[in-house]
Amino acid sequence: MHKNALALFDLSDRVVIVTGGAKGIGRGIAENLALVGAAVVVADRDEAENTACAEAVVTAGGRAHAITCDMSNESDIDRLVESTISTFGQIDIVVNNAAIYPMSPIADMTTELWDEVLGINLRGVFLLTRAAIPSLKQSGTNGRLINISSIDTWKSYVGMGHYDASKGGIEAFTRSCALELAEYGVTANVIAPGAVKTPGSLTVRGNLARERGDPNTEAVDAEFATRIPLGDWANGDDIGQATVLLATPAAHYITGQTIYVDGGLKLTM
Ligand code: NAP
Repeated sequence: MHKNALALFDLSDRVVIVTGGAKGIGRGIAENLALVGAAVVVADRDEAENTACAEAVVTAGGRAHAITCDMSNESDIDRLVESTISTFGQIDIVVNNAAIYPMSPIADMTTELWDEVLGINLRGVFLLTRAAIPSLKQSGTNGRLINISSIDTWKSYVGMGHYDASKGGIEAFTRSCALELAEYGVTANVIAPGAVKTPGSLTVRGNLARERGDPNTEAVDAEFATRIPLGDWANGDDIGQATVLLATPAAHYITGQTIYVDGGLKLTM
């Protein structure tokens, strides 16, 4: 018989940083990790929503602290790591979730837009990971690096060349992290969401609907949902719950993997 079954899914002595945690998928991740006991640092550039997320977690009985920061700014990231340690004493789990996805055909893509997307989505992941590694090593077998990529790494989309490059880079980088951190017991994995209703994807969906000459986003959403085997779009909680699974002791032997959390969408592509 194994130890207490609940202990396999308990994060009550863990400290986690969730980037882009103010809204959308990041908020779902922050709230669900807090639900299983983790102390959560919500790290987002949207100060008002960031603070609101941390306050909602605390109101619900959890532990959370908001740190406003820009994941393209190295000194912000160093401050995020230092403030997390001074607030909660350690960092056990890093969830690199913050990203942007402004659509542009490659032929029209400016160098500045490429640099901006790669700067947040990929360079930011490297900078935070590197800054957190000393703490993750100290956490040993409790240490988790969880990076958010996208189903786009399986099937590319028109207008997403910069984004798809950043997300493919995250998956390769995470496998390297898994190899380098394995000797400390720290795991590194990727969650690749499918179609998730968030403020960010709402903008993309609105653009697609307008391109079709149909500003009715709900109709576009409903049509897309019919392509998803489990029958509907995901929400932030769906991705947050998958993150909980990878963060808990139950997942200590899973490393170097990309887990698609997509309702089966990849099966149809
Ligand atoms: P979202 O609704 O746009 O939320 C992202 C949050 O991250 C926003 O609060 C955003 O602030 C923040 N953020 C962006 N750049 C930042 C920076 N430089 N520093 C700090 N915070 C920053 O996005 P989402 O749809 O939840 O996506 C979250 C993650 O899931 C991303 O990695 C995305 O690629 C991935 N994903 C999403 C979907 C989907 O269908 N939604 C599918 C596959 C993968 P602002 O509002 O100020 O930009």
